Amino acid sequence: MFPAMVVQTSKSPGQGDAAATSLKIFINGRLVDKEDAKISVYDHGLLYGDGVFEGLRSYAGRVFRLEQHLARLWDSAKAIWLEIPMTRQAMADAVNDTLKVNGLEDAYIRLVVTRGAGSLGLDPNRTSDPQVIIIADRIQLYPRELYEKGLEIVTASTVRNHPAALNARVKSLNYLNNILAKIEGLQAGCIEALMLNHKGEVAECTGDNIFLVRAGALATPPTDAGILEGITRQAVIELAQQAKIHVREMPLTRHDVYVADECFLTGTAAEVIPVVKVDSRPIGSGEPGPITRKLIDRFHALVRG
Ligand code: PMP
Repeated sequence: MFPAMVVQTSKSPGQGDAAATSLKIFINGRLVDKEDAKISVYDHGLLYGDGVFEGLRSYAGRVFRLEQHLARLWDSAKAIWLEIPMTRQAMADAVNDTLKVNGLEDAYIRLVVTRGAGSLGLDPNRTSDPQVIIIADRIQLYPRELYEKGLEIVTASTVRNHPAALNARVKSLNYLNNILAKIEGLQAGCIEALMLNHKGEVAECTGDNIFLVRAGALATPPTDAGILEGITRQAVIELAQQAKIHVREMPLTRHDVYVADECFLTGTAAEVIPVVKVDSRPIGSGEPGPITRKLIDRFHALVRG
């Protein structure tokens, strides 16, 4: 367990505004200046992507669904035999402290737990203590106009990880599967790309879950389609149910996407964003639809509420 939090700074007092505004990063129970936030090059998080992470948001100083993110982090860690050296309460406190010390209200928070420094072999038993890192920084959203006009995406040829190889429900530091698909999207001029699972069904996008609207009802792939169980996905399912919009978690094909009336993505960073073109085909009218707009409004009300 980590000792009580210590705020460390390498800058001497009176060094000016830049020093005063230097971001503080949480590492293993200490808050240090961004420039001093370092871990070993022998850390298996770096050498092998051996570790887990979470991305969270705070709105007006309040972290959105903190407990759910921590539950997912602890599940991810358990799945890879990684013991997080803190209690969940201590982690929650550390997240809030990191936000506060940086004076951030609307922020993106990255929580990382690595396996720790070890030998150059894979053996996780030969590593030291897991490293716990919390970064709270300003949020970089997709350009505002994309929320009004909608995104264009393409299907990547990179298939989503087979769940029996590395389950997508584990939010591990090894994101190469998603990065390869993201590169395909970027090469096609799109900032997101659709990924199919090993059965050829729709899974999710590289950093977002996907929803379709057909005949006034929502459809989204089930978690056993090999997807991350998105916190925003769950929030949107709840909002839809409150709005008496029927939601079905069901296997979907690209055909379902092409003939949908509306399509949108959900994610902590993206929130709810309309998709208006997939693989060069306009979705529905080719403009963000009424149900998508309604859910965007309700999501904004939820996070600010
Ligand atoms: N799928 C993947 C692969 C992701 O990385 C993310 C972002 N964490 C999501 C879906 C959306 O999940 P959430 O709503 O919890 O951010």
